[in-house]
Amino acid sequence: MTHPAPASAALFDRARAVIPGGVNSPVRAFGAVGGTPRFIDRADGAVLTDVDGREYVDLIGSWGPMILGHSHPEVVAAVREAAGRGFSFGTPGEAEVLLSEELVSRVEPVEQVRLVNSGTEATMSAIRLARGFTGRSKIVKFAGCYHGHVDALLAAAGSGLATFSLPDTPGVTGASAADTLVLPYNDQDALARAFEQHGADIACVITEASPGNMGVVPPRDGFTQAIRRVTREHGALMVSDEVMTGFRVSASGWYGYESARDGYPDGPADLFTFGKVMGGGFPAAAFGGRRDVMEHLAPAGPVYQAGTLSGNPVASAAGLATLRLTRELDVYPRLEAAADTLRAAVGDALSAAGVAHRIQSANSMFSVFFTEREVRNFEDAGTQDTAAHAAFFQSMLESGIHLPPSAFEAWFLSYAHTDEVLDRIVSALPAAARAAAATGSSAVS
Ligand code: PLP
Repeated sequence: MTHPAPASAALFDRARAVIPGGVNSPVRAFGAVGGTPRFIDRADGAVLTDVDGREYVDLIGSWGPMILGHSHPEVVAAVREAAGRGFSFGTPGEAEVLLSEELVSRVEPVEQVRLVNSGTEATMSAIRLARGFTGRSKIVKFAGCYHGHVDALLAAAGSGLATFSLPDTPGVTGASAADTLVLPYNDQDALARAFEQHGADIACVITEASPGNMGVVPPRDGFTQAIRRVTREHGALMVSDEVMTGFRVSASGWYGYESARDGYPDGPADLFTFGKVMGGGFPAAAFGGRRDVMEHLAPAGPVYQAGTLSGNPVASAAGLATLRLTRELDVYPRLEAAADTLRAAVGDALSAAGVAHRIQSANSMFSVFFTEREVRNFEDAGTQDTAAHAAFFQSMLESGIHLPPSAFEAWFLSYAHTDEVLDRIVSALPAAARAAAATGSSAVS
């Protein structure tokens, strides 16, 4: 028996009349899983309440930002206090300096940052800067990595497009895609070949620090280091996109986690992009890195980049309060423990029901693939049984657990996912696993 969601359905109808597809970002439309997207009225801790008054444990977390859970009282207080002093000045202010100092203090190779409003803006600007700095035009990206909806980066771009089975998008001209080389992720030979052929023209390689937009596909041994080596040898920059992983998988993101684990013998990336957690749920993002590169940005240098709302005081206050609390509350060990609990429970439930699956992680960030094979790249991710995922999703939703409505996304945990909340998720899993098994297509071979 499905719970009716009449108020959400009515809003979805109205939304479709005035907003294309009824949503302001495609994955929200439930296109990959079917049914009515839940229109959320309010959120507190780990719980969303929809306009029909029904509660859901939230595993979307606004697609990453809500690392403390929703409406943390200290973040709310910081936002109120900042808003009380004005919303936006168009002049410099203290909050943006404090947030920038916090970012620079956390990620050692980042000496300077420029604040922007979205991850898309961060990657777009980082690429312009890499081109301006090197005087070269080509860029390399990896299939399945998503860096926002930047024209030049919308080729084989991961979750949204994979979910909607659009290999490419109309509206991106041949000219803007022509300078983008798309390579398979985790393939050092393809990387070496691209540099053999085009090395002198490549401005940068941009990579998700540990991809999360084709599901979680961490770099295999030595892959990050290989990107660093080959870019350095050829005078290209390396741009590590930490919009999703930054300040989520450790206090200093994937950089902190991987450099401590494996070391970076040839050094870290030149530029980094951040977003999501650093805005605490408000539109704040950043790109940053080596001072000598960053100082090519206007007004210090010739590469133009600007923004009416960049460094917004309210967004900066929310981001700063969020980042400070991750330290004060010792959030990261808690996320890791919660991820361990959930991964084990999901694996047990799917195995018990005989559903082919694979769980992959970037420290506490993980996703569940409905396939048996190891997922090393976008092609592997595409072997998933999306019908099994859809059935699993719908059953969880029925039980009051809101997963990401796509098989190509990470599950986002927060500090508010206490043991009691995890118990609610765990108790919903067996029925969802049986629903996935009942689709009949994803049995363990
Ligand atoms: N880069 C990565 C790795 C992302 O995951 C995203 C968004 O999901 C972006 C860039 C784009 O960020 P935004 O949606 O804030 O433009």
